[in-house]
Amino acid sequence: MNTKLHLLLIEDEKNISDFIATTLTAQNYRVTCAYTGSEGLSLAASLCPELVLLDLGLPDMDGLEIIRQIRSWSALPILVISARTQEEEKVRALDLGADDYITKPFGTSELMARIRTALRHSSRPAGNGAGQAVYRAKQMVIDFEKRLVTVEGKEVHLTQIEYKILTLLAKNSGKVITYDAIMADVWGPYADGNNRILRVNMANMRRKLERNPAVPEYIFTEVGVGYRMVEDEGGW
Ligand code: CA
Repeated sequence: MNTKLHLLLIEDEKNISDFIATTLTAQNYRVTCAYTGSEGLSLAASLCPELVLLDLGLPDMDGLEIIRQIRSWSALPILVISARTQEEEKVRALDLGADDYITKPFGTSELMARIRTALRHSSRPAGNGAGQAVYRAKQMVIDFEKRLVTVEGKEVHLTQIEYKILTLLAKNSGKVITYDAIMADVWGPYADGNNRILRVNMANMRRKLERNPAVPEYIFTEVGVGYRMVEDEGGW
């Protein structure tokens, strides 16, 4: 019986496809390569892979359309391979249901981290980190039951809004969360599409949480897209 995790790679550039396939195979994944969108879609349906790696720039169809079609029948993790500086495209991909993206050019360790995170989030029962009691990374611990945040053993006092933002990011740690998704989750119907209030809260949080707010260790900015919290080090 083959127990390797099966990944589907949809990427038309042969050298990138070969690089990724070789890397993943060496890491003990099983990889199937598709070089066009239509081939990718039919393989996604017939092979039911554990994860899809998707290049958005394909010769025969828009990668966003592939996300839309897969999401119409499956929740399987989709990791987008995107060119640098295409923030709007990344946001659209995430809004359509992609789980995360990786920006070209990327290295092996970054690729592996993104895949692990996407697989981990998809295998979690509630899918949303519900039931997770503690987040732990570097010197930060968040105890969700006690609503207690400590850094280097010292309690950090956050406002209710700040705590909500931190909880959302921590429960999705390792994954990018878009500005709009945070606004909708934290402010709900009061979110007005203006991210200024989020940026202000983030600046205040960083002053409380980060040793050097200009060089964050816990919450990273993905320019034009959103925020990504450093991955939880505890197991699930
Ligand atoms: Ca391409």
